[in-house]
Amino acid sequence: MSLAAETLKSLVKAAAEQVIASAPELTALDQAIGDGDHGANMKRGFEAVLGKLDVIGAQPPGEALKTIGKTLVMTVGGASGPLYGSFFIAAGDALSNSRELPGDIAEVFACGVGAVSARGRSQPGEKTMLDVLFPVLETLKAAAGKPDLIKRVRATAIDAVASTAPMQATKGRASFLGARSVGHVDPGARSSCVLVQAVCNSLEARQ
Ligand code: ADP
Ligand code: MG
Repeated sequence: MSLAAETLKSLVKAAAEQVIASAPELTALDQAIGDGDHGANMKRGFEAVLGKLDVIGAQPPGEALKTIGKTLVMTVGGASGPLYGSFFIAAGDALSNSRELPGDIAEVFACGVGAVSARGRSQPGEKTMLDVLFPVLETLKAAAGKPDLIKRVRATAIDAVASTAPMQATKGRASFLGARSVGHVDPGARSSCVLVQAVCNSLEARQ
């Protein structure tokens, strides 16, 4: 197994396990401004990803990301399934058949974020997962190559989740609540943060 494949496999495992462990928190957030299924949706999806870990680990990174995306589309359900699926499929397409993880992660991440925005017809500021994914992309670009990149990405994701609380939702189920969506953290923003945090922690542990 190449180093890239082994790295990717351990990152995927860490991220999936962290999402599964966060299911109760994601459920509680979605109960406040949605229908309460985000924890169960994400848990089901990432359990399916864990079930394919050996297949994913044997694939080139681009194919592995696409397998993750297709698995999420098939299993997560809700609005978030196709959105996370699009993220990973587009990021996988951006990597194509390269055997190594690229130096420029920001470019690959940008393709994922663009796909979420296109599929969701959404922009940052609408109280969705994009309110974490977009600032993380900005930090990936701004801090590329800097020694504190991982710390800055993690801090950005955590701050970005908190920033969704004062927003009024204009996309997704929470938008039905209008002004009553204000004062709550967006569940998809939190699940995106959980994924980013898990990858950051896992990368740091390898250093
Ligand atoms: P559902 O809303 O169908 O019950 P989930 O609860 O699994 O699906 O996911 C809800 C999350 O999906 C929201 O918290 C939000 O972050 C994200 N979301 C919903 N609609 C959009 C959209 N159009 N663009 C980006 N993200 C969205
Ligand atoms: Mg929901």
